[in-house]
Amino acid sequence: MALFCDDARMKSPADRIAAAYDTLLAAYGPQGWWPSRSPLETMLGAVLTQHTSWRNAELALRALGARGLLAQPELARTPEKTLAGLIRASGSFRRKAGTIKDLADAIRQGPGDVEGFLALGDGALRGALLKIRGIGPETADAIMLYAARRPVFVVDSYTRRYAERHGIIVSRATYGEVQALFARALPRDAGTYAECHALLVRLGKEHCRSTRRCGGCPLAPDLAEHEAGARRAKPMKSSQQRTGGRRA
Ligand code: SF4
Repeated sequence: MALFCDDARMKSPADRIAAAYDTLLAAYGPQGWWPSRSPLETMLGAVLTQHTSWRNAELALRALGARGLLAQPELARTPEKTLAGLIRASGSFRRKAGTIKDLADAIRQGPGDVEGFLALGDGALRGALLKIRGIGPETADAIMLYAARRPVFVVDSYTRRYAERHGIIVSRATYGEVQALFARALPRDAGTYAECHALLVRLGKEHCRSTRRCGGCPLAPDLAEHEAGARRAKPMKSSQQRTGGRRA
């Protein structure tokens, strides 16, 4: 695992993630994502929100709903071109229409209905999703978590940004490494993983933006503690280098 934190006096990355979750939950409260949507709507939302805001994804979902296409048989029967026209608001609409069409086909050609598809075993479900053009690990895991309610942690750019800035991960850490770290740090439970993901998205929108706004950020104390620890660790490393790695 490509992680920082080699100073025994500093908290472990897992402890800091668990503490960050508690802090964010106390600061923002439960986010209540996708509480009453059907599993199919949740799956479509995960595709439509790729590289755009949830607001735009929601406009596209509403357009599909207005045409009665939030049901699997109707969706599978609809030509890709028609879908593309309806989901324009979500951006990259031709590519996303292809993904939605392939998703509907995978459900129809596999178990036949959404419930059966989402009841596949973890490996089979993730494998089926990753075979669909336009679905990568993040979207597949969002569907596993929010539609199938599996305890799978979703790693997105907001998660990575916070974790990198706090020295919890390095930029070359893989998707799987970051996912395993967060999954291990929190109780293995779909509700907790979903809440943590939603809280990190809120953090990324309110404070940890591309230009960070640390003033007033709930995680500013953790950052200050980490930076102080890193400053303490530096002289220790230099002195070890001077003594050829032997303890002075
Ligand atoms: S805004 Fe600053 S304190 Fe808040 S999570 Fe980002 S880097 Fe940390």
